[in-house]
Amino acid sequence: MNIADVHTHNKYPQPENVRTVFNLSIEHGSDIQSFSPQQFFSIGIHPRRLLDDYTRENRLLLRKYIKDRQFIFVGECGLDKYANVTSANQIAAFEEHIQLSETTQKPLLIHCVGRFNKLIEIKKAVRPTQKWIVHGFRNKPQLAGQLLNAGCDLSFGEYFNQESLRITPLPQLFLETDESSLPIAAIYAKAAAVKNCSLDDLSAGLKLLSRYSGFT
Ligand SMILES: [Zn+2]
Repeated sequence: MNIADVHTHNKYPQPENVRTVFNLSIEHGSDIQSFSPQQFFSIGIHPRRLLDDYTRENRLLLRKYIKDRQFIFVGECGLDKYANVTSANQIAAFEEHIQLSETTQKPLLIHCVGRFNKLIEIKKAVRPTQKWIVHGFRNKPQLAGQLLNAGCDLSFGEYFNQESLRITPLPQLFLETDESSLPIAAIYAKAAAVKNCSLDDLSAGLKLLSRYSGFT
């Protein structure tokens, strides 16, 4: 059975049945040449990197790269209470990514730490047409419920709150390795056990990747 890892920073080769969305920073945007045409990517400016990376040059590069078919998600981008730039700057950068996601019609891959109210507020104001996937979700079910109600999808990695995963409807549930060295198959097994479902039921990630990458 094929499985999908919607967000990873791990470059190591994957088993045949694993499809990954490998995250690239702008400085590595041109690295896709060294990958297979069947490898897909996300690209954006991480909120904790804004101070150094949110430059005019990088913003232009991001606009250029995101048009390529191998970049299927915009991000990771978002809001982080520990980022070393002002909240206003974070919001401006985030809104730029949102706009790119809307104009290119590619899902938005979101990193959010401690700014979930703001995130929901922005989503309600913008009413995006594209998917918003909140990645690496480890928070409590109450917050999971609020995000799901606001129409966000959630992606879970090695560590997660079991009840939050349990209440996430299958079409809104994605899995990822991020920076973990645990294989994505192990995260699928963990999620299936918590959700008391089959691995086949956890197919939202694969469907999403198929839709945006065109592979079957
Ligand atoms: Zn990440």
